[in-house]
Amino acid sequence: MRTLIFVRTIGAALAIAGVALPPAHGAPPTAALASRIATPGPDILGHFEAAGMRSVRPYVLTPAELAQVETALAELPAPHRRVLQTNLRHLGFVEGVPGQGTALTSKVGDTMQFDITVRASALRESLADFLTTKERRLFEADGSGQSVSFEADGADALTYLLLHEATHILDMSRQLTDKPGNAYGSGIWQASGNDGVTLAPHLAASPVAASRFRGAGPIPAGRARVTYDALANSPFVSLYATAAPAEDLAELMAWHVVSQHHGHKIRFTVRDAGGALLAHYEPMQFPGVRARLPLLDKLLDEAGPDAS
Ligand SMILES: [Zn+2]
Repeated sequence: MRTLIFVRTIGAALAIAGVALPPAHGAPPTAALASRIATPGPDILGHFEAAGMRSVRPYVLTPAELAQVETALAELPAPHRRVLQTNLRHLGFVEGVPGQGTALTSKVGDTMQFDITVRASALRESLADFLTTKERRLFEADGSGQSVSFEADGADALTYLLLHEATHILDMSRQLTDKPGNAYGSGIWQASGNDGVTLAPHLAASPVAASRFRGAGPIPAGRARVTYDALANSPFVSLYATAAPAEDLAELMAWHVVSQHHGHKIRFTVRDAGGALLAHYEPMQFPGVRARLPLLDKLLDEAGPDAS
């Protein structure tokens, strides 16, 4: 859907927190990025309405939330901050998002500008709760009583979400996963007949490809271990990463930075109905995931004008 361009002031939101508007030139990078925080306008809400989410409303950040978002933006890796400075029009928050909708990166018309819009309640979620809720939607009860739960060592959902969405903008602005035969998807994704991309055959046949994220039905809860044992032998950091090449890169980058730069260990467990541990997994230690990290570090280490 084409986004309508509209003009709106961000002065009000910034004034709440007593933050001066940054000057147009010479502003420190962090202030320049904070200036993109804006309450979503009608064009953004239109994206949600077009997706059938008619109850979505703009959310105005409290001063404390504004400070939280500014800090999260300032802590993004340098390549992410750089690309957002160039390509982010607005970062906004909405409430009333039903189901699993959490964050949306939308292109502004035919420009290379993007808007990131995030479900406001994610501001108050831990990464562990966020991932647990998202993952449990993949499974259906089968009498086994088994369930999956994440632990993320105090990490917050917002940092992860901004990393994931900013990686999409980095990817789109530089066409990282778009190019046929690109290094990021090597041996994982391959061209399919009609200009599309599909999983390599050995991955397409794996239980990792049999989730809702790839259009399959719910997974019986008792098959959680079979599914995650296959994930542990795959190049994917999460089942969501199997959805598309761009999601694969965004997931890998977000998990890597949360783990490596922020020092949070992300793990998950499968337990039986009585809470007894059946299996535990630490995706950043999966051999297939570790093999991909040098490529990500290369991307993260690229020097730029404001690298710090
Ligand atoms: Zn995504």
